[in-house]
Amino acid sequence: MEIVCLDLEGVLVPEIWINFAERTGIDELRATTRDIPDYDVLMKQRLRILDEHGYGLPDIQAVIDQMGPMEGAREFLDWLRERFQVVILSDTFYEFAQPLMRQLGWPTLLCHKLEVNANGRITDYKLRQKDPKRMSVKAFHSLQYRVIAAGDSYNDTTMLAEADAGFLLHAPQNVIDEFPQFPAMNNYEELKRAILQASHRDLTL
Ligand SMILES: [Mg+2]
Repeated sequence: MEIVCLDLEGVLVPEIWINFAERTGIDELRATTRDIPDYDVLMKQRLRILDEHGYGLPDIQAVIDQMGPMEGAREFLDWLRERFQVVILSDTFYEFAQPLMRQLGWPTLLCHKLEVNANGRITDYKLRQKDPKRMSVKAFHSLQYRVIAAGDSYNDTTMLAEADAGFLLHAPQNVIDEFPQFPAMNNYEELKRAILQASHRDLTL
């Protein structure tokens, strides 16, 4: 039995925070874990900034809805789901991902959760667990699945290492250089072929 685990941002959809910052003109929201390594500190800062600008969840979702998936992402995902069980493993939040998941045909997504009050104000967030992508791959292994995984960045590397086959897609050069053990793919066509090669089944394009 085989399952494919895919990262979301940078693989199927744009980076949500960077894109949101561009669309709203709120430059402070461009900060990532590269600027503020402690994710909790970073998230608290993001929520404070959203609050200061008066953005509640419905406003945020309306902006995210405009982003849309990457070109070819829906077709790639549909192709993959005809051949494999597919689960998306992401460090985003269900509430942010929702408009994009609708455009991707509601694939299974394991990520984190926001706490939102009746007025739509984001009051807090809940991370599902530590090192969630790797833990998910371990869990699928315990269910006797062979795991093929693909992601684009640092937060994917423990998932790629835990998987039976791990690939980079659309990764920045520094990640490609630091993790030469994961073959780097530039587009969905290359990734399709790599996944088919990694499969133990006799599948075709
Ligand atoms: Mg990513």
